[in-house]
Amino acid sequence: MAAATMEKVVNLCKRRGFVFPGSEIYGGLGSSLDYGPLGVELKRNVKDAWWRAVVTGRDDVVGIDAALIMHPAVWEASGHLAGFTDPLVDCRNCKQRFRADDLQGTTCPACGGELTEARQFNLMFKTFVGPMEDTAHVAYLRPETAQGIFVNFRNVVETSRLKIPFGIAQIGKSFRNEITPGNFLFRTREFEQMELEFFVRPGDDDSWFEHWREERLRWYTDLGLSAERLRVRPHGADELAHYAKACCDVEYRFPFGWAELEGIANRTDFDLRRHAEHSGKDLSYFDDERRERFVPYVIEPSAGADRSTLAFLLDAYDEDEVEGEPRIVLRLHPKLAPYKAAVFPLLRKDGQPERARRIYDALRRHFPVDYDQAGSIGKRYRRQDEVGTPFGITVDHQTMQDGTVTLRDRDAMSQVRVAEDRVVEELRARIG
Ligand SMILES: [Zn+2]
Repeated sequence: MAAATMEKVVNLCKRRGFVFPGSEIYGGLGSSLDYGPLGVELKRNVKDAWWRAVVTGRDDVVGIDAALIMHPAVWEASGHLAGFTDPLVDCRNCKQRFRADDLQGTTCPACGGELTEARQFNLMFKTFVGPMEDTAHVAYLRPETAQGIFVNFRNVVETSRLKIPFGIAQIGKSFRNEITPGNFLFRTREFEQMELEFFVRPGDDDSWFEHWREERLRWYTDLGLSAERLRVRPHGADELAHYAKACCDVEYRFPFGWAELEGIANRTDFDLRRHAEHSGKDLSYFDDERRERFVPYVIEPSAGADRSTLAFLLDAYDEDEVEGEPRIVLRLHPKLAPYKAAVFPLLRKDGQPERARRIYDALRRHFPVDYDQAGSIGKRYRRQDEVGTPFGITVDHQTMQDGTVTLRDRDAMSQVRVAEDRVVEELRARIG
């Protein structure tokens, strides 16, 4: 398989409408990116696959969708106001800013000038609620979705019949004013998280940590990420966040090196205890069967929707040769592919376009599908291969006689004939 480079995938994303530079007609805004027509489908499929695996496919997890702007006291309780900072240094000469952690030497990497002392820079985006721009009206765009779950813990317990162990999940945007964003979708200041807070009895936390580590790793391989580009890296004691008892990262080998796709943390009872202290509300849990009250421990698998999407794109990217012609193909899992199939009339005559159009209209009620009658059939296959469409359905001369179409497989390059009224079932069986 051809090694995907960031440059090749970024170019493909732009050329085929997966991801565009943000605000491009104004020259772009650093590390701000917009998903195009195909990218929005791909990313939605990633999020839907996560939601099915983590929420609706289980009987012990429910979802919520909390507000982006929360009471500022939330960030005091969570520790973000005091501690969600990066050390920042300025160059006295060229005025550029750097993360102190990223620097090798003691002088400016851009001009060799003298650097200031490091100072702490809070990564939360600050804003004001209402027309008064004063400290009494300061609010923050959430830097993580997790806190929206903790502050709703009691609401969910009181309104559902869930018993511990159970989880609350959320997918949504978060914002971090990163000093050094970069690597395309990997690190942006505005990004989407897929987070689960799974509440357990203290003492059961270690086994649930193992459970989620295995579940989450399998999710990526089930959706086609190659196992040799995935690893689980446990955090050393020096890397653990102040609230965490244990933590590991699911890492992917990106072209720029191994980097985090998802963090899985044992957050203990830190968050619920802090919110109980700061809000004055009881956030303990009463176990009816054992007749005992406790503050639950939390296992948190926290994944990035954008960096997962990037990993799926990079992993799927391939170049090969078909009948002497070079081909770019995205070998996306059919569940993730923006289009599940494309329908083609072989010829633009003899009633073939009308017949193909009819099949396309019927399929569209079941799957996202594309229709293409422009150019040679080879060119049309290439166009679909490049965006990861797993199946091609071609109407030809024989279709007009016996009602069968060819079903082409993107990866096996095989073609079989299928009765046109069986195409939906055949596709459904192949997509899984
Ligand atoms: Zn400088």
